[in-house]
Amino acid sequence: MKQIVIIGCGVIGAMIAYEISQIPNLQITVLDRQPPAQAATGAALGVLMGVISQKTKGRAWAMRQASIQRYNTLLPELAALTGNSLTWNQQGILKLCFAEDDRSRWQALIDLRQQQGWQLEYWQPEHIWERCPQIQHSDITGAIYSPQDLQIDPTALTLALVAASQQRGVTFQFGVDVLKLEHSSATRQTSDCLHTTCLHTTCLHTTAGEVPADAVIIAAGLGSTPLIAPLIKSGGQPVDVHPVLGQAIQVQLQQPLGEPCFQPVITGQDIHLVPLVDPELSHTYWVGATVEFVDSLSIEPDAARLETLWQDAIAFCPALKNAAVLKTWSGLRPRPQNRPAPIVEPLVGFTNVLIATGHYRNGVLLAPATAQIVRSLLSERI
Ligand SMILES: Cc1cc2nc3c(=O)[nH]c(=O)nc-3n(C[C@H](O)[C@H](O)[C@H](O)COP(=O)(O)OP(=O)(O)OC[C@H]3O[C@@H](n4cnc5c(N)ncnc54)[C@H](O)[C@@H]3O)c2cc1C
Repeated sequence: MKQIVIIGCGVIGAMIAYEISQIPNLQITVLDRQPPAQAATGAALGVLMGVISQKTKGRAWAMRQASIQRYNTLLPELAALTGNSLTWNQQGILKLCFAEDDRSRWQALIDLRQQQGWQLEYWQPEHIWERCPQIQHSDITGAIYSPQDLQIDPTALTLALVAASQQRGVTFQFGVDVLKLEHSSATRQTSDCLHTTCLHTTCLHTTAGEVPADAVIIAAGLGSTPLIAPLIKSGGQPVDVHPVLGQAIQVQLQQPLGEPCFQPVITGQDIHLVPLVDPELSHTYWVGATVEFVDSLSIEPDAARLETLWQDAIAFCPALKNAAVLKTWSGLRPRPQNRPAPIVEPLVGFTNVLIATGHYRNGVLLAPATAQIVRSLLSERI
């Protein structure tokens, strides 16, 4: 049995654990200094902007497409495997367009998605008022409706992935901080490091002692940079992941916003209005999230930014004025510096270390495609 260690149990680490648990003869251990889904994943809104994304080619679209396709099979699979009440919103995403939006750009996307086998609709304002009467704003010029995009609670998803992975023999250790990766010169060479001296991680130093590893997957979000920095060889690309703070609000109303039977995610001017599908939380919505570039992991959220977000949401959905605020929260998105998100690749100079981090604003969306890439990279190495 090969020992595979995954560092981090956010949505990325948990998704990878579930995906690679299908490879035979692996002993998989997931380590996290916290319980599952606490960091960025615990703050996320779970809006999966796939078909409606403006990404149309290359890796960015390929990962989105692979993820949407996988979610359609994964969610029923997880619900059946875990027997829990995992629910997700299948009523799509409605993106409001304002005067500054370029209609021809959206029409080009609608045409392209049709060629790619996906569906997007352009809605005139009258159609918006009819289907979503809660939306009122004189500057709205139309909307794009994406019926195949989903939303899911990222914490519930991660916990379901953990439970399903445990059923398949994966071990999870929470409250364990990984301090350092121990390595030695490699005896085996891969195509990445042919004719060079490669390093091979042999074990991890953790607060629970040494953990042996035949391969290591670093899915530690913002914790990835300090783990990887000492391992970067000269010429290797640094994995510099910085925090971008996001704040959000959970509110409850006396009745649903708009039509009770049609509750899509509505997004306008970068604010998501997310109906919760949890039957125990009736007429409850998440509203978020701010995008705040910060230079420290310990910065306090700015209350004024949250208030602006709330007032902007009320501006396009006035009924929110009557909502009771149940809670507010914030989280830090892991954003790579000077390179596109996410980072899913082997660590240069190492035979057996893979990196899966820096998913910034789309970690929940891109988790399935990330896990598929990691599975294929791992299969080449073990
Ligand atoms: C407010 C907000 C809203 C968002 N909304 C969306 C959305 O709608 N859709 C979407 O797709 N994405 C969204 N995101 C982005 C998404 O949350 C992230 O991209 C995603 O959660 C990243 O997951 P991760 O597993 O890489 O990181 P994390 O969830 O941060 O998990 C990393 C884990 O690694 C552990 N760790 C770190 N270092 C160590 C160490 N040395 N030893 C042990 N454990 C360690 C941490 O404890 C943590 O549990 C949102 C983010 C925020 C903040």
